[in-house]
Amino acid sequence: MAKAKIVVVGAGLMGLSTAVCISDSITNCSVSVMADRFSPNTTSDVAAGMLIPHLYPGTTIHQQKQWFRETFDHLLSICNSSEASEAGIHLVSGWQIFKAVPEEKTPFWSDVVLGFRSMTEKELKKFPQHKYGQAFTTLKCDCPPYLIWLEKRLKENGGQVHVKKIEDLWELHRDFDIVVNCSGIGSQKLTGDLEIYPIRGQVLKVHAPWIKHFIRDGDGLTYIYPGIYNVTLGGAREKDNWNLSPDPIISKNILDRCSALEPSLWTAENIKVRVGLRPSRSAVRLQKEVLIHKNEKLPVVHNYGHGGGGFSVHHGTAKEATRLVKEVYNVVIHVKWFRSPCRHVGRYTQLMEFWSLCLAAVRMVHVVFPRLMSGNWLMESNHVEDCQCETTLDKTSASWQNERKR
Ligand SMILES: Cc1cc2nc3c(=O)[nH]c(=O)nc-3n(C[C@H](O)[C@H](O)[C@H](O)COP(=O)(O)OP(=O)(O)OC[C@H]3O[C@@H](n4cnc5c(N)ncnc54)[C@H](O)[C@@H]3O)c2cc1C
Repeated sequence: MAKAKIVVVGAGLMGLSTAVCISDSITNCSVSVMADRFSPNTTSDVAAGMLIPHLYPGTTIHQQKQWFRETFDHLLSICNSSEASEAGIHLVSGWQIFKAVPEEKTPFWSDVVLGFRSMTEKELKKFPQHKYGQAFTTLKCDCPPYLIWLEKRLKENGGQVHVKKIEDLWELHRDFDIVVNCSGIGSQKLTGDLEIYPIRGQVLKVHAPWIKHFIRDGDGLTYIYPGIYNVTLGGAREKDNWNLSPDPIISKNILDRCSALEPSLWTAENIKVRVGLRPSRSAVRLQKEVLIHKNEKLPVVHNYGHGGGGFSVHHGTAKEATRLVKEVYNVVIHVKWFRSPCRHVGRYTQLMEFWSLCLAAVRMVHVVFPRLMSGNWLMESNHVEDCQCETTLDKTSASWQNERKR
């Protein structure tokens, strides 16, 4: 049976996790990932990778919770396996603290993370500026290890990776049957989507191995997230700013704010600054589209626009994108199946025409040409007679002669 050729554009978190999900669940296909940047040079490499949901106003809470739960449960099972350290996934406990008591004390994701509860008075004493807090255990993906692990899993499933900048998705129609667009902020150019915009982020990656608990200010602007190899200090949010150069003023400001929450950070060493553009949208674009040029069609499945919360929902959205790819795949595979016998019928017809010509040529040489030469071709001018005359054996046979006499 013909194989469907699927290409995923993008090698960040979305591209790789979607490619792995497709190659895990659709057997009769080839999966390639094509991108101009791979780890450690994607936005996903800059992220802290904490599983704390970010709100998408254009998506129902029910849907967001489902994506978060699917992602959390999936990563928890990896975390409980021998793959955990290579994949860079670990459990981390800590506090989300608020200067004023929030209206919603129990967020929608509180029963997905582990051990969600309000902080005790004793715990809150560490943060004299804050009035209320939530304690819970969640998961964290360390990047680049997680991206490298995903790429390895894709290759184990037979997937391929190619470094290439795509100028137009249509250029892929010659070599692939289905395109999956996971190009993050690159989608603005690739699809002309005006709803997606960058929110510039800047973080510090520091060496402070004594930090074991996360601390997040409820406004989401200041955070301390310990990872396996370093601690991520944040952050910054600048809408529509495309500048990827680190800003030293923002770096100082981040260190000041984080050290106010955790004074031991003043002694942190090996400070590295990273900048990334969150691919932001009111809702993640998870959608099928068919590109049409002249009479040709190219099915595309989009999975981009995860903003500041990609890690928290990536497996859920990869599963949803895979479901859309399966729908497209069923159509593509039928078209391929239909086309291949047609092609054979076409070849068969050509072959039959060739044999007809050969037979006509043989007939010319053996029947018509000798008659022309002997000059009695006029006698045979009646076409029907001519056809009957060809059966010379019958005409000379006894039964035929008897028939003529009668
Ligand atoms: C500072 C910061 C901190 C963050 N912290 C967290 C966090 O703690 N938790 C959380 O859940 N989320 C966090 N995020 C958000 C998260 O990083 C993003 O949602 C996620 O990384 C988006 O992944 P992506 O694969 O869509 O995009 P990207 O990682 O940007 O990948 C896009 C890919 O598409 C490719 N591409 C684009 N255009 C083209 C083209 N024309 N041709 C070929 N290839 C192309 C790129 O090369 C790249 O490979 C954070 C983000 C930032 C910036």
